[in-house]
Amino acid sequence: MNHKIKKVVIAGGGTAGWMTAAALTKLAGDNLEVVLVESDEIGTVGVGEATIPTLHLYHRLLGLKEQEVMAATNATFKLGINFENWHDVNKDYLHSFGFLGKDCWACGFQHFWVKGQQKGMASGIGDYCTEHLAAREGRFAILPNQDYNHAYHLDATLYAKFLRQFAEQRGIKRQEGKIVSVNLHQQANDSRYGHIQSLTLASGETLEGDLFIDCTGFRALLIEQSLNTGFEDWSHWLPCDSAIAVQTTSVEKPLAYTRSIARDSGWQWRIPLQTRTGNGFVFCSKYMTDEQATQTLMDNIEGEPLNQPRVIKFRTGTRRQHWNKNCVAIGLSSGFLEPLESTSIHMIQRSIIRLLQMFPSQGIVQADVNEFNQQTKVEIENIRDFIILHYKVTDREDSAFWRYCKNMPIPESLAHRIELFQQSGKIYKLANELFGESSWIQVMMGQGLIPQQYHPIVDLMPDEELQQFLNNIRDQVTRKVKNLPNHVEFINHYCQSS
Ligand code: FAD
Repeated sequence: MNHKIKKVVIAGGGTAGWMTAAALTKLAGDNLEVVLVESDEIGTVGVGEATIPTLHLYHRLLGLKEQEVMAATNATFKLGINFENWHDVNKDYLHSFGFLGKDCWACGFQHFWVKGQQKGMASGIGDYCTEHLAAREGRFAILPNQDYNHAYHLDATLYAKFLRQFAEQRGIKRQEGKIVSVNLHQQANDSRYGHIQSLTLASGETLEGDLFIDCTGFRALLIEQSLNTGFEDWSHWLPCDSAIAVQTTSVEKPLAYTRSIARDSGWQWRIPLQTRTGNGFVFCSKYMTDEQATQTLMDNIEGEPLNQPRVIKFRTGTRRQHWNKNCVAIGLSSGFLEPLESTSIHMIQRSIIRLLQMFPSQGIVQADVNEFNQQTKVEIENIRDFIILHYKVTDREDSAFWRYCKNMPIPESLAHRIELFQQSGKIYKLANELFGESSWIQVMMGQGLIPQQYHPIVDLMPDEELQQFLNNIRDQVTRKVKNLPNHVEFINHYCQSS
């Protein structure tokens, strides 16, 4: 017998918990009650401040105005990520959110660009992309008839607070309390045998529910500690297992991109908000102690620290099932990929939207559970491959860490993509993958992978025509960017009008 879902309990109130709660206001009402339980004593991970453009979809779902979110979270616009020292020491490239040049029916822009480079007719590939040039020049605006692909840098704590207010105003109940035990249905003749029945709080109170969303962060209190779902470890492909985070005062006007600076045994991030900078260092404990890593980070920050540096330990990989029995894991409880391409909040949002689409009001159906897990698996494996690419394709061999990354075996799926691009300039990509062709091209080329061949259709274009084709695109990009205001001036104006 199927048991209807009348009450959802969200365990945990970090970014994942409150994003889920806010979205569930779309379903909550007379037929569905939603409660979120969180513990102020435990707190949240407090990082996760760089996003990608898909966050617009989530905000649209909630009916939020961009200015309102930005003003509430001290946000700046983000047009991409600058990867410094990744291809090699003292080399950098920008992975922007924009589209490169123009495609033709037969092939992508990179084929024209490769020949242009060989003939000395083309400049850096980023010159053919508006968001790329705008990021470099610190220019940006939201224009009525021109949508530049952008995301945000935002304050994670303020974002959760903002969503909490949104959710509570729309009827989601918040319960303060520390979960001390997760209780399972025990009756063998009940179809819910082994499903979660309730949570017991430190106060002794019991919180019953039909569906439980595990947003308890790395603890994974429900999905793992209680349901023993299992974890697929990917640390042989992504060996970093620790991070240190510290916030500092800003010493310069915020950039319109995140900085990712590779170091001997990891990489450092710099995320510029309106009022401060988020800094962190992701590293591999096999090659560096926490103390050495803290020193590296503190030696490479600008501005005054606003808090004590904090060490965060993690294991890269994914839960074997993201939906198990009557528990759905969203956020860090579902697994972790390092924040190199700022994809965690995106994965949270994807899981939320998928859950809303498959919401089991009439009871949990195994086919839905399987479909949910399959879709999540495909998505996360694609993102995993994209992140591994940054480590694998490098000229760096100057430390044990980089030698390991350069020589490590990689998933077959990624090996195929690299080989295809290297040999023929083509991009292998599934239809609904998060990262589009322009992203793969920018990172592959940025990391030093230049195709050996281009598509034969390019040779049908006489050299003069190719030159003109490339120049036209670049001139258009330059003109557009020249007309944009300064990024910071635009933020001030835009957020004031919220
Ligand atoms: P948490 O923030 O840890 O929240 C867990 C919640 O569960 C808290 O409310 C806690 O109180 C509650 N809880 C836990 N145990 C109990 C209990 N026993 N009883 C009651 N409540 C409990 N993502 C991005 O998209 N972009 C980034 O730039 C980015 N950078 C990151 C950098 C680092 C170093 C790390 C580690 C992660 C980063 N992420 C990033 C990921 C991002 O931080 C998370 O996806 C996001 O913050 C969601 O976290 P969460 O809500 O799952 O967990």
